[in-house]
Amino acid sequence: MFELSEQNFIDNVRFAQSGWTLHGIMMPENTERLRDVAGKGEIDFTLIGSAKEGSCFLHLEVSGWLNLVCQRCLEEMRWPVKLCPGFEIVEDSRLLQPAGADEKLEQIPVDSAMDVNGLVEEEILLALPFSPMHAETDCVGHGPVGSPAEKKPFFSVITGSGLKPSKEF
Ligand SMILES: [Zn+2]
Repeated sequence: MFELSEQNFIDNVRFAQSGWTLHGIMMPENTERLRDVAGKGEIDFTLIGSAKEGSCFLHLEVSGWLNLVCQRCLEEMRWPVKLCPGFEIVEDSRLLQPAGADEKLEQIPVDSAMDVNGLVEEEILLALPFSPMHAETDCVGHGPVGSPAEKKPFFSVITGSGLKPSKEF
């Protein structure tokens, strides 16, 4: 296990061949890109290296939550994050070639200073909904519950409180 730190850079081939594990916690406000899309949140990630038959692999487990803005009512909504992408580390020259034996794995280049936080951010950004919205039943911007006609009595009570009853009312 590595120590937690704000920035995590690894030699990804050595990391995989050594079978190391890296665990970290990420707050969107401390990130470069996630802070633009998420108000608050907490992301927990584990990177696991492995090597088999001369190939190097990384597995990432990401879980946690982010507060996104609902595109219907513009209120915050909690979006659960649960991702577990796998990667095969390949030489740059192989990146342009068709995927290897396991097509479910993404290919990433050999990197002696791979930015782990950047990789976690990237995977989350790829998984983000294009237009996040509450479920219809939870969203205040939808349905008859929030319609102006039903809000009116409430509004009248507030304006009348503390005042003498008005005859015009
Ligand atoms: Zn909403």
